[in-house]
Amino acid sequence: SKEKGRNRFSRFAPEMLHEEQWRLQLLHELEKGLAREQFMLHYQPIVDMASGRTVKAEALLRWEHPLHGVLSPGEFIPAAEESGLIVALGDWVFREATRQLAEWRHLAAPAFELSVNVSPRQLHASEHAVQDWLDWLQQLALRSDSLTVEITEGVLLDGDQATGAKMLALQGAGLKVALDDFGTGYSSLSYLKRFPIDFLKIDRSFVSKLPQSQEDRVLCSAIIAMAHQLGIEVVAEGVETREQHIFLRGQGCDYGQGYWYGRPMNARSLGERLQAEAGQ
Ligand code: C2E
Ligand code: CA
Ligand code: CA
Ligand code: CA
Repeated sequence: SKEKGRNRFSRFAPEMLHEEQWRLQLLHELEKGLAREQFMLHYQPIVDMASGRTVKAEALLRWEHPLHGVLSPGEFIPAAEESGLIVALGDWVFREATRQLAEWRHLAAPAFELSVNVSPRQLHASEHAVQDWLDWLQQLALRSDSLTVEITEGVLLDGDQATGAKMLALQGAGLKVALDDFGTGYSSLSYLKRFPIDFLKIDRSFVSKLPQSQEDRVLCSAIIAMAHQLGIEVVAEGVETREQHIFLRGQGCDYGQGYWYGRPMNARSLGERLQAEAGQ
């Protein structure tokens, strides 16, 4: 009830003040970090299950903080989203990832692709993102279909019509769209109807207990079959063991991502991996 909420609020007020101070401090640090180039991208291989080749990677943001060490996105993305700084940060991710992709395609793997995460708030808040991004791709002479945008269903839940329109504009320009963390939200299925998505990423929570869990075996097989009937390719996330890989491949899963194939790594390491595979 409201009454209860108010009591709780006043009881924890001092703590919340502390949290508020921490948030402001974090925002200040984020802005400084962006200006001082403390952010970097790691890349996690996405493997074609049938051939075993690294055909794609997901760009994952890291913050090399001078005092706190390497921070993962969960530690700062929420604050960046709340403040609107996610727009500048997201633009940086987009430019850095695509610059790197153009280099890899040029030097090692002409058909290599990249996935970037785009948060609902980012899409909601960016005024010009779509056209700016398309211009940028053109400057890099990068085919728009070499890039996948990973979104969660929050794009529709939190966002408005304009946000949905931006998604459609990206797809219209040829970028691919992946529905991230599939199965964890409550509108995943209706989303499939409303958006012509290209990939569905089965959330790690459905993969981690494979192949022992009978429920998860059934769910994964059903998701893969359904996606394929809708013309959508499937990426399994969080594949950590050979048994999980074998089971999912056996079910016709198209791509795998997880520690079994490789942890997120810096650009140089992924470049070396691509060059080694190209030489095989
Ligand atoms: P996500 O999109 O679901 O990314 C996958 C996360 O799972 C990554 O965590 C990755 O390191 C981790 N992971 C990959 N394989 C395995 C595995 O086999 N086992 C386990 N236990 N974990 C695995 P990370 O890098 O900490 O990223 C967390 C989340 O932060 C991402 O989840 C994504 O939602 C968000 N994020 C990352 N980079 C960006 C970005 O540039 N922009 C935005 N808006 N969000 C980002
Ligand atoms: Ca993702
Ligand atoms: Ca995911
Ligand atoms: Ca996830």
